[in-house]
Amino acid sequence: MNEVLPSDAGPPQGARAPSGGSAAHEVASVGVLLSAKNLTKRFGGLAAVNEVSVDLWRDRIHAVIGPNGAGKSTLTNLLSGDLAPTSGRIMLAGQDITGWSPEKISRQGLGRSYQKTNIFAPFTVWENVRLAAQSRDAQQPWNPLRWLQSAGKSATALERATRAIELAGLGDRRNVIAGASSHGEQRQLEIAMTLATEPQVLLLDEPLAGMGVAEAERMVELLLKLKADHAILLVEHDMDAIFALADHLTVMVNGQVIASGTPAAVRADRGVQAAYLGEDH
Ligand code: ADP
Ligand code: MG
Repeated sequence: MNEVLPSDAGPPQGARAPSGGSAAHEVASVGVLLSAKNLTKRFGGLAAVNEVSVDLWRDRIHAVIGPNGAGKSTLTNLLSGDLAPTSGRIMLAGQDITGWSPEKISRQGLGRSYQKTNIFAPFTVWENVRLAAQSRDAQQPWNPLRWLQSAGKSATALERATRAIELAGLGDRRNVIAGASSHGEQRQLEIAMTLATEPQVLLLDEPLAGMGVAEAERMVELLLKLKADHAILLVEHDMDAIFALADHLTVMVNGQVIASGTPAAVRADRGVQAAYLGEDH
């Protein structure tokens, strides 16, 4: 493995803890909301993700790039619980979430968007976001006390939906039928739906895919805004966006991490240039 920085490097701001000892571990994990260690996912004989470790820091974007089939979506699916890892461990906000269901992981503060747009096309933008906000309450296990409090709960869901739609920049598009809005707005809507569950960690799988220049610029602005309050994993092919947004960059090829570090260090890495950046992707 050709590492630009060790994968267990401390926060990018440089507060590197000495290795070993529990006190050192605490220092190293300050700001780390999600930490995955040695994740492997096998599909039959294929290791789609092979011994991958990633950390996501609060207020930082960790971008993952790599050619098609590198394992980026599979990695995202492991972190969100959509797939169970063959081996490895995932910690979210200090809790071991390995093997948890996607719903339970979502309630623990992780939100995600999918590579393919995932909205309710016949409903309005606002209805989509409201349903996403309410789904959080519906996913709670049956509890009579909660049911009695449901009036208060649904007000909270409406507040969450309002906040999310504004944050995603769709406030003035709330009454538009989702399926009739532009591709860029549909991707924004997906992010609004994710925000409606108030995640601390966001996993975004190719949010700029298929966008024109103006739509992509708008999405980059939105991601910069979201970075201020979230830990973000960004899988993306658009290198201009990556270098505009990423605080940390990991390169995957054939399920493995071939480099991980600051974008500048990764860009300068000859192994990465040969394996990926030099090619026209
Ligand atoms: P990327 O998102 O980087 O393009 P993927 O994570 O989608 O890559 O895929 C990584 C590899 O795993 C590919 O070879 C793909 O065909 C394979 N793969 C992904 N999902 C499955 C699955 N559910 N079953 C079998 N193979 C899969
Ligand atoms: Mg993918």
